Amino acid sequence: MRISIIGLEDERFNRPLQLIANLFFEESKIITGNAEEADIRIEFHLQVQENISVSAELKENFDKIFAAEYQREMLPTGSEKERFKQIKNAVAHVYLTVLQDLTGITQKWGILTGVRPTKLLHRKVQEGIPIDAAHQQLKADYLITDEKIELMQQIVNRQLSVIPDLYSLQKEVSIYIGIPFCPTKCAYCTFPAYAINGRQGSVDSFLGGLHYEMKKIGAWLKEKGVRITTVYYGGGTPTSITAEEMDMLYEEMYMSFPDVENIREITVEAGRPDTITPEKLEVLKKWNIDRISINPQSYTQETLKAIGRHHTVTETIEKYHLARASGMNNINMDLIIGLPGEGVPEFTHSLAETEKLMPESLTVHTLSFKRASEMTKNKEKYKVADRDEVEKMMELAEVWTADHGYVPYYLYRQKNILGNLENVGYSLPNQESIYNIMIMEEQQTIIGLGCGAASKFIDPVTGKITHFANPKDPKTYNDSFEAYTEEKMQILNELFSEKNSPA
Ligand code: SF4
Repeated sequence: MRISIIGLEDERFNRPLQLIANLFFEESKIITGNAEEADIRIEFHLQVQENISVSAELKENFDKIFAAEYQREMLPTGSEKERFKQIKNAVAHVYLTVLQDLTGITQKWGILTGVRPTKLLHRKVQEGIPIDAAHQQLKADYLITDEKIELMQQIVNRQLSVIPDLYSLQKEVSIYIGIPFCPTKCAYCTFPAYAINGRQGSVDSFLGGLHYEMKKIGAWLKEKGVRITTVYYGGGTPTSITAEEMDMLYEEMYMSFPDVENIREITVEAGRPDTITPEKLEVLKKWNIDRISINPQSYTQETLKAIGRHHTVTETIEKYHLARASGMNNINMDLIIGLPGEGVPEFTHSLAETEKLMPESLTVHTLSFKRASEMTKNKEKYKVADRDEVEKMMELAEVWTADHGYVPYYLYRQKNILGNLENVGYSLPNQESIYNIMIMEEQQTIIGLGCGAASKFIDPVTGKITHFANPKDPKTYNDSFEAYTEEKMQILNELFSEKNSPA
């Protein structure tokens, strides 16, 4: 679908308009100006004074077929960026409306294309806006449906009951530790995950760098008296290293980090069942790891094979029981909706198998075609369900989790996600992952250590976010970890200086 945009000269509109077009059409192209080759034309009339007034007319062959108007007050703001955001949202409002009319598709998330919808609602709670008024605003400003507003509210309530001090944790930090190795690489994966027996730099030298980072950052936290809220080992698959290597790593954590006994939660992703052994489970218990993830993704063997996960369904179930027997009492399992070749029958089967295990939490992802994955590069090889079927599976997950006592406690969206839906973390009450809430709601700094680890520094006073990424591949990491650690400590010094401490 080629869409000609008339009446909006500012180039900053192009990307948001493209993102919204992507919600409706498999392939779409935004063309600025009155282009001959366009399939449809959308003419905008925009006026910005004390109010923002915008109208859009959608035309096919120069005949008007749909029109929309919207007006809102221009709120006072200190920055041009914020000002433009208000205008952009108003434009998106009428643009979405005419595209919905044209296609008959209702976008349940309205004009939102960002990753963290619940943050919007948290902000309103923090500003003291009453619930009903907040919901009205979300509906009027962003065209979010009642169904999704209800989901957001349920999640925000749950988060605040699990972490009552969520809004005052800026003085603490969480730590993410990235281990970039996996037994093999899955087809949909864009994480830093290198085959552990591959040639991408040795595990030994990587771990050397990681121990260094943990020592340095730990010493800084101790010196400044900054506490750690949660620690999360992700990757890759952190259990793809040996039991001895894991043992030394957790020992390092206890030696270097401040007050580890009082960290609220330590999670280790053991995503790939083929990496779990009795020895590694022993090590996890020895160091009081609170929570692990064992990820089936699907309980259909052919699917696992098609996506390059070299383990069996039986192995997932066996390793789950092994972890239970070793005393792990907070286990998360991930499922993915819309894997190649899967529809309602396969997903129903996955839920039935989950019922036999009843993990403490279940994260339901919707397949996303990330640009760099093997799957996206060879899209024609992987047949996936259509929008309606993906929605049906999502509904099945909602009903199944509610029937089995799980509550939704975090959600995030991705670009190019099937059916423009979301990923939702469900959990049995009081088994929620605190780290997942912290990373989604961006209320505190998360320091990333290791390969591909993204740090997110949040100014404790202004809330401004600074991103910082460690290199993704082990070779580059091994060459540069000292410089990266130093840079992070400089940012931390500024953020946690006395002048910047919240009242
Ligand atoms: S196990 Fe996870 S991190 Fe590893 S390749 Fe598969 S999807 Fe990527």
